[in-house]
Amino acid sequence: MGTSRVVIVGGGVMGCAVAASLRQAAPEREVVVVERDATYRQASSALSASSIRRQFSQPVNMAIGAYGYAFLKDAARHLAVDGEMPDIGLRDGGYLFLAPEAAAPAMREVHELQRAQGAEVALLDPAELQVRFPWLSTEGIALASLGLSGEGWFDGYGLLQAFRKRAIADGARFVAGEAAGFERSGARVLAVRLADGTRIEAQEIVVAAGPWSGKVGAMLDIDIPVRARRRSVFVLDTPDPLEPCPLLIDPSGFWLRPEGRFYLSGMSPLAGEDDPDDLPLEVAHDSFEEKLWPALAGRVPSLERLKVASSWAGYYEMNTVDQNGLVGTWPGLDNLFLATGFSGHGIQQAPAVGRGLAELMLTGAYRSLNLSDLSPRRLAEGRPLVERAVI
Ligand SMILES: Cc1cc2nc3c(=O)[nH]c(=O)nc-3n(C[C@H](O)[C@H](O)[C@H](O)COP(=O)(O)OP(=O)(O)OC[C@H]3O[C@@H](n4cnc5c(N)ncnc54)[C@H](O)[C@@H]3O)c2cc1C
Repeated sequence: MGTSRVVIVGGGVMGCAVAASLRQAAPEREVVVVERDATYRQASSALSASSIRRQFSQPVNMAIGAYGYAFLKDAARHLAVDGEMPDIGLRDGGYLFLAPEAAAPAMREVHELQRAQGAEVALLDPAELQVRFPWLSTEGIALASLGLSGEGWFDGYGLLQAFRKRAIADGARFVAGEAAGFERSGARVLAVRLADGTRIEAQEIVVAAGPWSGKVGAMLDIDIPVRARRRSVFVLDTPDPLEPCPLLIDPSGFWLRPEGRFYLSGMSPLAGEDDPDDLPLEVAHDSFEEKLWPALAGRVPSLERLKVASSWAGYYEMNTVDQNGLVGTWPGLDNLFLATGFSGHGIQQAPAVGRGLAELMLTGAYRSLNLSDLSPRRLAEGRPLVERAVI
């Protein structure tokens, strides 16, 4: 056998992070990234709200948040190519989660866990909230959790491009094409077939196809429970700046954060609400008028006067079982690895997942950060890893 070749299906932030990490750690390993759209028009990595936090309910996600933030702070150095240092514009703004009475005990419980993991987070009562954020209505709020450091937002598209450049500089080869089928023999995948008929033999395959990972799974005759779930983002212009403004998460399901002199906002369906697969990537303007704007104005009264400056829609790559990443080998297919299913928190996880998956593939174990909780094995074993803090 010649050089061992890894083929990565999908060249979004995950595919590029895995490719860069593999080439850095093992320059002798041939790495091919198959990406069908170099403009990334529909890729989640180009349509993200690109925020990073430590306030999760699962320790593995808290640890990934800490790793990711440290990486992003030093991204210029990690991702420099020929002395050119990318600027991914990291802002240390913090997250502010609001909880009504019924959700306050769970918030307290998760707070203890986050503190035990070293997160700098503070619980605030409504009176303290009012002092810190005078623009906020505390109606119906019993408790809030504020990240004091290590959380914020950044330029996600910039991160994607920086990882891509780094991967190419390190010798990964990008192939423009669509994976349309695979050749399998028993517990191994032998080759990827592209839509134009090209056959690429591989010793290892990585599925990093974002919201389309379920479709790639179908080509392999396996059920990867990842579906494309549309989310709309609205760019808001308001005459009344909100100072200071962390990334706000409201119990109604909306989120809001600053972006330069504007604000970004969106809303996820609440548990039990309809969330169909594969909707066309059109902005849900109706839901803005009917749900998001009233909820925003209820929580931030000055937003009654907002104007929508622009908007876009993108897909979450939703893991419909437990809304967490699927990272590692697929049970029953020894040389198939997944890096998908991040359900709205994938761009912040790319640095840790890229490095971790490369370690797993090259050495058979995690070295920097233990990501084994994210193994797809949990699906077959009926042990979901439910993340309570999904936005
Ligand atoms: C509105 C919105 C807000 C978000 N906010 C945040 C946030 O605040 N923080 C956070 O961490 N995450 C957030 N996310 C999620 C985050 O953007 C994603 O988790 C992350 O970008 C996923 O990266 P990816 O590389 O897996 O997928 P993608 O970026 O979608 O890349 C997958 C790539 O695979 C390619 N592909 C698919 N099928 C094939 C095929 N058959 N052959 C060849 N190529 C193929 C596609 O063309 C695509 O380029 C948000 C997402 C959205 C949509």
